[in-house]
Amino acid sequence: MTKCKNCHTEFTYSQEDRDFLRKLDPIFGGYKLEIPDPTFCRDCRQQRRLSFRNERTLYRRKCDKSGKSIISVYAPDSGYIVYSTEEWWSDDWNAFDYGKDFDFSRPFFEQFNELKKSIPHLALHNVSNENCDYVNLSGFNKNCYLIHAGEYNEDCMYGTSVIKCQNSLDMINCFESRWCYEVVDVQGCANLSYSQDCTNCSDSMFLYNCRNSKNCLFSSNLRNAEYYVFNKKCTKEEYEEKLKQTNDHLLEHGPNQLHKQFAQLKKSTPHKAQQVTTYQTQRIHTKAMTVLIVRTVDI
Ligand SMILES: [Zn+2]
Repeated sequence: MTKCKNCHTEFTYSQEDRDFLRKLDPIFGGYKLEIPDPTFCRDCRQQRRLSFRNERTLYRRKCDKSGKSIISVYAPDSGYIVYSTEEWWSDDWNAFDYGKDFDFSRPFFEQFNELKKSIPHLALHNVSNENCDYVNLSGFNKNCYLIHAGEYNEDCMYGTSVIKCQNSLDMINCFESRWCYEVVDVQGCANLSYSQDCTNCSDSMFLYNCRNSKNCLFSSNLRNAEYYVFNKKCTKEEYEEKLKQTNDHLLEHGPNQLHKQFAQLKKSTPHKAQQVTTYQTQRIHTKAMTVLIVRTVDI
């Protein structure tokens, strides 16, 4: 057992783990460099790896070039020099001014860290957004707020991995959809709420793994369906009555109880062993960059 240097809990590191590391040891100029045993436990190592990419934590700080107040992924006390997105992309500074010789008598990462601390950093990793002060890792969005890893969206809020969506909020992995709310892994949907793993569905709520369906409530695994409630076919009038009841409940009590019903529904329904998709990719060439649009397609 080894004690984690970070959280001080004990963890095991087996001979099998070491044997695996030996396969990853890098070889430079014929010399094999042995990767040392970890000093952090597995959870702390995972946290350290994830903290390298700050996607969603934004700070207010000063731009080190203009002194203006800006939003950035770098905390004011991070020790990094940070320029606003506009200042960083401008021709007002020269990256070559920060070049320095490598000292072969000192460790690489020590010098790499010194270099990182000496050069200006981009406050937010964005390109060509309009009226989107609080987004990161995004491009070509308009009127969006707290969207991360998203491109070509308009009037969207609170989402990660959102591409080509409009008028939607609270979503993860949402593509080419509009008027959606609280959705996960959806594509080509419209006016869909509280739903997951849906493609080409519209005017529905609480759907799981449905395709080409509309006017449905609390249903799963539907294909080309209309007017289904709890996976049972009903008339238009019956559906509208149930929709009214659901909307009244949401207005009066919020979604918590309905979330529980939906969770029960998901538990009781057959699931695909894997969400296997193929990826259709399309490159869009712009003046500033080449953007790779990725579409997931069920197979
Ligand atoms: Zn730990």
